[in-house]
Amino acid sequence: MLTDLSTPSFLVDRPTLNRNCARMRDKAQASGVAFRPHVKTHKSVEIGRIQHAGSTGPITVSTLAEAEVFAKDGFRDITYAVPLAPSREKLERAATLAARVERLSVLIDSDTTLRALEEYAGSHGNVFDVFLKVDCGYHRAGVDPESPDSVQLALRMARSERVRFQGLLTHAGHSYNARDIEEVRRVAAEEAGCLSRFRALLSSEGIDEARRSIGSTPTASVVDRFSDCDEVRPGNYVFYDAFQATIGSCALEDVAVSVLATVIGSYPERGEAIIDAGALALSKDLGPHHVDSGFGYGIVCDLDLQRLPIRIAALSQEHGKLIADAHVPPVGTRLRIIPNHSCLTAAMFDRYAIVERKKVVDEWRPVRGW
Ligand code: PLP
Repeated sequence: MLTDLSTPSFLVDRPTLNRNCARMRDKAQASGVAFRPHVKTHKSVEIGRIQHAGSTGPITVSTLAEAEVFAKDGFRDITYAVPLAPSREKLERAATLAARVERLSVLIDSDTTLRALEEYAGSHGNVFDVFLKVDCGYHRAGVDPESPDSVQLALRMARSERVRFQGLLTHAGHSYNARDIEEVRRVAAEEAGCLSRFRALLSSEGIDEARRSIGSTPTASVVDRFSDCDEVRPGNYVFYDAFQATIGSCALEDVAVSVLATVIGSYPERGEAIIDAGALALSKDLGPHHVDSGFGYGIVCDLDLQRLPIRIAALSQEHGKLIADAHVPPVGTRLRIIPNHSCLTAAMFDRYAIVERKKVVDEWRPVRGW
């Protein structure tokens, strides 16, 4: 029972998780595109299998540690979707892992890394599977799709004998700047259009085989079907969170996770209380700050997930400071906090309590480290 768990604990509601996973998988299938969900949000092999209805289908990872653990569990087609560091250690780990699975694709957006891969492959006799990372407007990583240099790099990759060119990969992280569904829909159109235009440029140079891989939870959630792409890689949708519910990716009832916390100090005279979930339990993500600057560090609910008129105004390492509009909860009260950013909050915990109708039914351990 939730009253018996140690606090803070990370709770995953299994029916909601199953529903979120099925909905996105069905949409990909109905759209006729490959489904390669990201596992970075949960880093748990159990949830990876739920994303694929019980099988070990294609996945996207954000660390080589995730790739290694998922490969050990039987996942055989993995894309490591962070540009690979061209260091000896990373090249060796990627090559060792690639030899154990059907396909490990890595991501590059520079000639420097392409040369490092080619040199390593030249002296070790392996061939790396590679995607070119393309910037569709987020401006975090990736090549400029309008630049002739980007086309030249893609052509170098496609013609290289030391790497196998898989195609073009982009992530519309700027969908997180949107305030509503209409803005997200515009970003979704840019995300897919950008890779199709880039692929047409390659095609005019004689390169016809380039997969178009897209995916972010906001864009993947608001479209009715996927078009103009070959595969999709959303990740956060398994859990969703307060941020996604605020910008319209999902309803608040779709959020599958919460942090169980206990009130450890109560000060009705100043309308405040503290809980034992601080920054090391919730993360210090500001959430939908661009929509509501007073949003606070998560949504405070009772054990039945009914929203309370209480805001998390500040976090220190192990304290969360609550400001209550009305009733200040007394010491010992248990609360559930819907996190602002479930990926970062999940990463704070070394185990997840799996719940069904407030009953703990299992415990899963995620991958940690890099
Ligand atoms: N692909 C890449 C390269 C990413 O970096 C991410 C997330 O950061 C995703 C896919 C999944 O996006 P989301 O977390 O919005 O589901």
